[in-house]
Amino acid sequence: MANAPECPVCGERGVPILYGLPTRVAREAAAAGKVRLFGCVVPTEPDQWTCERSHTWRADDDQVLIAVIDAALKRD
Ligand SMILES: [Zn+2]
Repeated sequence: MANAPECPVCGERGVPILYGLPTRVAREAAAAGKVRLFGCVVPTEPDQWTCERSHTWRADDDQVLIAVIDAALKRD
C-alpha cells in the first residue's frame, strides 16, 4: 500500500474503491480497511480512490490503482 496516493483535499492516504458485487476476499479486505466497497451502481465517471474522511477522487495512474487493489486482495 506504499504507493497509494494522498487525498488531494485532506492528505490522508487513499483507499481504492471497488464497485460491483464484492467477493468474500473483497469483503475481508474492506473490513480490514484496505479497500472501500461502493456497491453495484457504477457511475459514468467513477471515482477510484477514497480516504478516511470520505473524499473521493480519480487519479491518472491506473497502474498504481491496480497494484494497490492487488495488494489489498492478497491474503497476508
Ligand atoms: Zn480526504
